[in-house]
Amino acid sequence: MRKPSLLSIAVLVASSAAAQAPATQAGLSVHWEELTAADFRSAIARAQSTCLLPFGIMEKHGPHLPLGNDLLNVRFAALNAAQQEYAVVFPEYYFGQIFEAKHEPGTVAYSRGLQLQMLQETTDEMARNGCKKIIIVNGHGGNNSLLPFFAQTQLEAPHDYVVYVQGLARSGPGEPKHKSNPATDMHAGESETSVSMIARPDLVHLDRASQESGADQARLKLPEGLYTGIWWYARFPNHYAGEGAVASKELGDFETKTWISAIVQSIRAVKADQESLRLQNEFFERSKHPLNTP
Ligand SMILES: [Zn+2]
Repeated sequence: MRKPSLLSIAVLVASSAAAQAPATQAGLSVHWEELTAADFRSAIARAQSTCLLPFGIMEKHGPHLPLGNDLLNVRFAALNAAQQEYAVVFPEYYFGQIFEAKHEPGTVAYSRGLQLQMLQETTDEMARNGCKKIIIVNGHGGNNSLLPFFAQTQLEAPHDYVVYVQGLARSGPGEPKHKSNPATDMHAGESETSVSMIARPDLVHLDRASQESGADQARLKLPEGLYTGIWWYARFPNHYAGEGAVASKELGDFETKTWISAIVQSIRAVKADQESLRLQNEFFERSKHPLNTP
């Protein structure tokens, strides 16, 4: 196994330390909760009204990773991205979709209605405070249906802000070779564990990763395209999918950097985007008088 270069380690350590740093006179913190009220005003201006809402979860992550793994990792990526391209980062948020892990210890599964209401009120409050462009940075695969649905339903009623969803984006060209099957490397497996080894190595218990099986139990036989909610439990009842034991810092280094740079690209694209809000406003105006729509 090739070791990550000293330079790449130095860059990561530096960016990690910077992400934890409090506001200094030299610059504004990217952490919403670390800013004073007056500095918050400056921060929103510097961010060009662009804010990040990193979205994690509390759920079991195999036998070897912490319950808050997705929250810790997504915040690591989002905070480092915001350091590179300034944006205000909302505090810890983990009120997402995780019913499928309710049989495991430590899962926090809020009701469906509350998930949507919390998220709506959170983005409404962010926007009321000047975040007119909100990027929800998803860190949890169980939110993959919730978040596009949430963004889609922003068309229900007029808003003076735009919600964007940044999906999980950790792999890319030039990626180091994986040691396990990528098709079932879905939860606390090689990829995710590798990223955790970069974000919070102190919380990764690699020696425990083989204590349970992360194999696909494939207990449901249904045609492709036919969905049912118990699919995940049918395949991975241990809430473990893949092989965490073969994780490496080399893969983690690559995937973390890929993820951070995807978020940086999205922040830049969102800052430059003048069309979404204009089109939303046009749409909302026309939706009041559909018979007049040309
Ligand atoms: Zn996870």
